[in-house]
Amino acid sequence: MLRGALLRLSRSNKIKNVVTTAPVTSGVVERFIAGETSDDVVMVIRRLVAAGLLATIDFLGEDTTDRSQADAVVVAYLDLLTKLREAGLSRSAEVSIKLSALGLHLRDGPQLALENAELICRAARMADTTVTLDMEDHTTTDSTLEILRTLRKEYPTTGAVLQAYLYRTEGDCRDLAEAGSRVRLCKGAYAEPESVAFQDRHEIDKSYVRCMKILMAGTGFPMLATHDPRLIEIALRLADDHGRRPGDFEFQMLYGIRPTEQQRLARLGHAVRIYTPYGTDWYGYLIRRLAERPSNLRFFVRSLITKN
Ligand SMILES: Cc1cc2nc3c(=O)[nH]c(=O)nc-3n(C[C@H](O)[C@H](O)[C@H](O)COP(=O)(O)OP(=O)(O)OC[C@H]3O[C@@H](n4cnc5c(N)ncnc54)[C@H](O)[C@@H]3O)c2cc1C
Repeated sequence: MLRGALLRLSRSNKIKNVVTTAPVTSGVVERFIAGETSDDVVMVIRRLVAAGLLATIDFLGEDTTDRSQADAVVVAYLDLLTKLREAGLSRSAEVSIKLSALGLHLRDGPQLALENAELICRAARMADTTVTLDMEDHTTTDSTLEILRTLRKEYPTTGAVLQAYLYRTEGDCRDLAEAGSRVRLCKGAYAEPESVAFQDRHEIDKSYVRCMKILMAGTGFPMLATHDPRLIEIALRLADDHGRRPGDFEFQMLYGIRPTEQQRLARLGHAVRIYTPYGTDWYGYLIRRLAERPSNLRFFVRSLITKN
């Protein structure tokens, strides 16, 4: 119930204004967000790479309401990709993009989001790296997968995200478990209705395992995005069963979450990619992280109280 309420708050502009203008939170925000500028995030990526990790970088922002905002997101990614190349980090860091930030919900949204995504994919290729399309709420799944299909004709390394909480995802995994296809599997972070998604955590975990089996048995490149110790253990067993060596799949985790486990897996020789968000528009992302773990929320509320 708390999770649902928080996820609804992540979409409330009123609460967003209260939280983001309060003189608070720097501790909580810093734990999950790698700074406000591209220079900040490049510095963080340098540190992650030096520690043997890989990265995917998200310029924070979603649900763009006009074209100029979508254009600004494209410009931010182009700037970031240039800086990554100049810093010699682009082989270790790719970028993650949200189609709603590129205009998906505007007039002619799918076409606009596609054109903007193409600009970023082209810049990523020039920088010697690639792009993964984040997955947002279920109303965008079809259009996101459609845009993915189009992008992959010209940019075949473009990655997709599938969410285990959706009933449809086993089928999507089957469709995408093909050679050259990069698929990030996560549990799913949005408040979804019972008509489209499992609600029970245990059912979501079971779905994750079924989806992971399909991806690991397939010929694509599975990117297993979870911090869940049981799922990580099952992933390692499945990799053994399917003769996948480190490098034939990767683990992905969020910046600031279970850093010791990130290091442990990397020391075992596994590819571990850290999803690293930056920017000033951190509200929606932060609230989803708080919703995942009540102790984060307590920490956040405590910092609100002590800073005021
Ligand atoms: C690389 C990456 C990319 C993602 N991209 C997307 C996307 O495109 N679309 C989407 O809907 N979702 C995305 N997610 C979020 C995902 O769907 C989950 O909401 C999130 O990863 C938590 O699920 P979990 O598998 O870690 O399992 P959980 O059962 O939530 O957590 C397992 C354990 O991990 C730790 N943990 C998990 N979350 C937190 C937290 N916030 N703070 C502290 N500890 C925590 C705790 O120890 C917890 O017990 C992404 C996640 C990752 C790692």
